[in-house]
Amino acid sequence: TPAIDVRGVVRHYRSPGRGVVHALDDVSVRVERGRVLGIVGESGCGKSTLARLLTRLERPDDGTVEVLGTRIDNAKRGPLRRMRRTIQLVFQDPYASLDPRQRVGAALAEVLDVHGLPSGPDRVGELLEQVGLVAALAERYPHQLSGGQRQRLGIARALAVRPDVLVLDEPVSALDVSVRAEIMNLLVHLREELGLTFVFISHDLGMVRHFADEIAVMYLGKIVEIGPWDAVSDEPLHPYTRALQAAVLIPDPTRDAAVAETGVTGEVPDAAAPPTGCRFHPRCPLAEDVCRTEEPALLPVPVFRKDGTQPSGEHRLACHVVRRRFAETAEAAQSPA
Ligand code: SF4
Ligand code: MG
Repeated sequence: TPAIDVRGVVRHYRSPGRGVVHALDDVSVRVERGRVLGIVGESGCGKSTLARLLTRLERPDDGTVEVLGTRIDNAKRGPLRRMRRTIQLVFQDPYASLDPRQRVGAALAEVLDVHGLPSGPDRVGELLEQVGLVAALAERYPHQLSGGQRQRLGIARALAVRPDVLVLDEPVSALDVSVRAEIMNLLVHLREELGLTFVFISHDLGMVRHFADEIAVMYLGKIVEIGPWDAVSDEPLHPYTRALQAAVLIPDPTRDAAVAETGVTGEVPDAAAPPTGCRFHPRCPLAEDVCRTEEPALLPVPVFRKDGTQPSGEHRLACHVVRRRFAETAEAAQSPA
């Protein structure tokens, strides 16, 4: 059984003044045990909603969510409690989930108590050390910690129940650039040491490509491209992924350069009124008539690396035009010159 098996999840919610927001529309994704799935997209693409469905903070309107072979979208209280020990969420801002009047040690002991696990100072000290904090920090209050220390505490709280899977929702985005690498290194180390499965969510393709095995790119509630990390990050096929890649490759953070490179302009449309056909069509430099009326399905594409080897795993793409170009190339290769 895979660590995560999400099938056809749909999540719409009513937003005052906006209407029905299509946070997720027919999203399916599978993560094998011990692997890292990176999920990339701009804010509002549905990444955080997916994180909340994976950890049962929300339930889908349709579709199923399985974690290590157990359905969690419809789980009752008992199985749900066991499931919460299996999969844990690390938030972007750990401060928001910490009680400012609770000392660090008490914040950790609380998590252990809720799950009926031993919560003595030894275990608390062990958890702190596991995330690179000294045990003496147990006496401090959250506001006495640096941003990096707070995120280490957030990770320690997630690890307290000895989970198999961590869902990391922009875990370093709120941190100073100088401490991001430290936290990323810690995560890489913990994953190896504990054999964890990760779902790593970020708006930054450059960040994700460093340690994902597979990358899914989301746009307005849909996966538009998914495949082996090197195929998606180095030779992306979807015009939107190419735009993200261009933004990564161009050191100047002003978007103008990326726009010049890719032809992608404008803002992400409101998810309460997603465009017809391909949701990316209003911003896509390759858009044709068919893109405005027909929604492209997420289908496998044959992909080989420049060196002729085939990346392991399937590469799937939701784009009419790029898929057609593939078909034309294949046809040309088959017909005699
Ligand atoms: Fe662009 Fe059309 Fe492909 Fe959508 S389907 S990404 S609009 S070319
Ligand atoms: Mg988010």
